[in-house]
Amino acid sequence: MSIDENIKKVNENLNKSGCHLIAVSKTYPAEAVMEAYEAGQRIFGENKVQELVPKYEALPKDIHWHLIGHLQTNKVKYIASFVELIHSVDSFKLLKEINNEGVKNNRVINVLLQIYIAEEETKFGLSFQEAEEVLRSEELKKFTNIKINGFMGMASNTEDHAKIRKEFKSLKFFFDQCKSLYSATNVDFHELSMGMSADYKIALEEGSTLIRVGSSIFGTRK
Ligand SMILES: *Cc1c(COP(=O)(O)O)cnc(C)c1O
Repeated sequence: MSIDENIKKVNENLNKSGCHLIAVSKTYPAEAVMEAYEAGQRIFGENKVQELVPKYEALPKDIHWHLIGHLQTNKVKYIASFVELIHSVDSFKLLKEINNEGVKNNRVINVLLQIYIAEEETKFGLSFQEAEEVLRSEELKKFTNIKINGFMGMASNTEDHAKIRKEFKSLKFFFDQCKSLYSATNVDFHELSMGMSADYKIALEEGSTLIRVGSSIFGTRK
């Protein structure tokens, strides 16, 4: 199927959920992004700063760019002027740097805290406890140029749907708890980023508001 048809298919599944599709274009050329753009897609996700920046520069300026992969503090400056949402904040140090860059660029940068919900050792992210430490910290109150919009999480890479569902459920539960506990000028819980090509249908049923879908739209990555 074509990129256009693939996007239509995912959008049919999103129907009425209020959830938004982020087309994950990492490793695919600008032409593939343009094909999705022509099909009406406007939100795109990349996992590397060095790939995001050239695409941002080359492609139409009404595209909303999300950074979904691990971000090093020394690279925040390259995306701070235009990035719409950073899904992958996994340390207080990174949050602080994003705020500093927000100040320099005179804008509020929207972020999600990435929460560790899978069993694999390799995944980045904060534990529930570490996330609460961030949300409770006194220093956070001084961050005028970031806004925490919610959480991002990746489920285990497994065929076991019950396990994936359980992990998404645990994140949704934590999200709802934090939403009722933490609210400030720079903390406004309304986005829950979970679900990829293999598991977005489960994520939708478990309350995702942003799904990050790459291979189901653009094809298998090499
Ligand atoms: C690559 C990637 C995705 C998309 O994965 P697909 O399986 O191709 O849909 C989603 N989220 C993150 C963080 C990624 O790095």
